[in-house]
Amino acid sequence: MTLPDPHSQANPQQAKTERISLALRVDFASRTLQGEAMLELSQAREGPLDLDTRDLDIEGVATLDGRPLRHRLEGRDPILGSRLRIDLPARAKGVRIRYATSPRASALQWLDPANSNSAHPLLYSQCQSIHARSIAPLQDSPGVRARVDVRLTVPSHLRAVVAAEALGREPSRGAEATDRFATPEPIPPHLIAFAVGDFESRRLSHRSAVWAAPSLVERAASELAGVENVLQAAESLFGSYRWGRYDLLVLPPSFPYGGMENPRLSFLSPSLLSGDGAVVNVIAHEVAHAWTGNLVTNASANDFWLNEGFAVYAERRILEELQGPDLAGMHAAIGRHDLEQTLHRLESRPELTRLRVQLSGLDPDQAYSSVPYEKGYLFLRRLEEIAGRKAWDAFLRDYLDRFAFRSITTQAFLELLEEALPRVAASAGVLRWIDGPADAPDVASQRLTELRILARRAAAGVLPSPAERQRIGPAELVVFLQALPSPLPASVCAELDRAFHLETTRNLEIRVNWILVQLRSGLPQGTAAAREVLLSTGRLRHVRAIYAALCAHPALRDFALQVFAEARQGYHPIARARIEDVLRPWSGQSA
Ligand SMILES: [Zn+2]
Repeated sequence: MTLPDPHSQANPQQAKTERISLALRVDFASRTLQGEAMLELSQAREGPLDLDTRDLDIEGVATLDGRPLRHRLEGRDPILGSRLRIDLPARAKGVRIRYATSPRASALQWLDPANSNSAHPLLYSQCQSIHARSIAPLQDSPGVRARVDVRLTVPSHLRAVVAAEALGREPSRGAEATDRFATPEPIPPHLIAFAVGDFESRRLSHRSAVWAAPSLVERAASELAGVENVLQAAESLFGSYRWGRYDLLVLPPSFPYGGMENPRLSFLSPSLLSGDGAVVNVIAHEVAHAWTGNLVTNASANDFWLNEGFAVYAERRILEELQGPDLAGMHAAIGRHDLEQTLHRLESRPELTRLRVQLSGLDPDQAYSSVPYEKGYLFLRRLEEIAGRKAWDAFLRDYLDRFAFRSITTQAFLELLEEALPRVAASAGVLRWIDGPADAPDVASQRLTELRILARRAAAGVLPSPAERQRIGPAELVVFLQALPSPLPASVCAELDRAFHLETTRNLEIRVNWILVQLRSGLPQGTAAAREVLLSTGRLRHVRAIYAALCAHPALRDFALQVFAEARQGYHPIARARIEDVLRPWSGQSA
């Protein structure tokens, strides 16, 4: 029998979880969570119930009223983990499972005070794509949405924050305290998210606050002050925000992504707090997910573009509202550049350049690329052009209402598209976009052309004038750096650095693009700067690009391996595994 989600061994036909209640003690000493998961089913059932787990220590399984149940933990699949099969007695409405997580749990990063931005240890989770099963036994497929209650018992001087409604702290019992949370809405398991640490909050608006380490919280609050404008722009485009609060949590530098759209509480990399306003596009992206990805969710990783293509499209519409079409176009150009790099990397894997993919037998993290994001974005832009913005916007609202709090396939999207906007799909050639290898148009604008001309002139030694430099914003500077030909003479690099202060920028995206220019030009400063970034941030997109650029030079491969050996412990398990993919072809050759 085939299961609907190639990345879950759970079978939603046996039963569907309606509510998940986690009561866990957070033990920093053993780096484990210990406690109970209670799963309540949407209907009483009898017979086998299969759950996803990864590296969990299962202590016992019982009915909701505590009668022990027969169960079997099967062998560990390297991608999927271990199936837990429970025999449900007649009319079972749920199960209670006592368990502990492993110190190696793939969703969790346990940080010592030295790496947590504070004087205390810190724990955070990242469950997308299939890591929720490493923190609890559950039906770990985005097709199975459940309400989630969380009780976390933590050292009482620390605080738990959860992507859910906060219900307060229970009366403390000495050295430990229990913080309680619940999600009123059904969410897919990859959106279960929490962190435990020394966090403070600052109010941003009537429905938003930022949480961060005490040393960072003031700066975070000032850089994120505009979040309410982003929410209002999104509401004007996509309808009212349906999740109550929208808070943000700034994590330590090892957080593997720029942001993660956990409901009610986006997680953010501190690298975005660069003082130049560049954070707004990531905020727009995470806010966009409150509609696309969290409200309407892909049924499995095969349809991941429904989450990310729509989120990038919505992000750039929000930016257009806030900052105008030129700036939104800069981000589209940066995205187009990413897509080109990805297509180059995937030349021998054209099946991964489709929007609708078949990832059976492949870890979704391994298949992760900019294709669902940027090709998805270009595809939706194309549909908008054909339908006309007014009709397209009406369709978008209809799509979000029709599938609100549901998880859907690409097929469901296509059927609604044909019903609401007949013939648009045929004019756009949708199946070529969706099931064909990438073949996406370039993005164009007058400002992009200007920047590309400036880059060509700079490469020939004629730098932009002070007045021209004044006009170049952070996103434009990224476009400019990406448009520089390589290799560049050392003298041109030195002048560019002086003109744009590239060595000292706090903007990580600019810094990384500058390092890539230097590495392509064979400059030794590039390797020193690369080492510094690789040791100080765990943002996967950036560190992976740097490791790949280092490995492109045979002489720098050993250097890349040495830096990784030093930096490895500081990366989240998800980032660590993906960097190992990049380094694997060379790691056998190292001494
Ligand atoms: Zn996203």
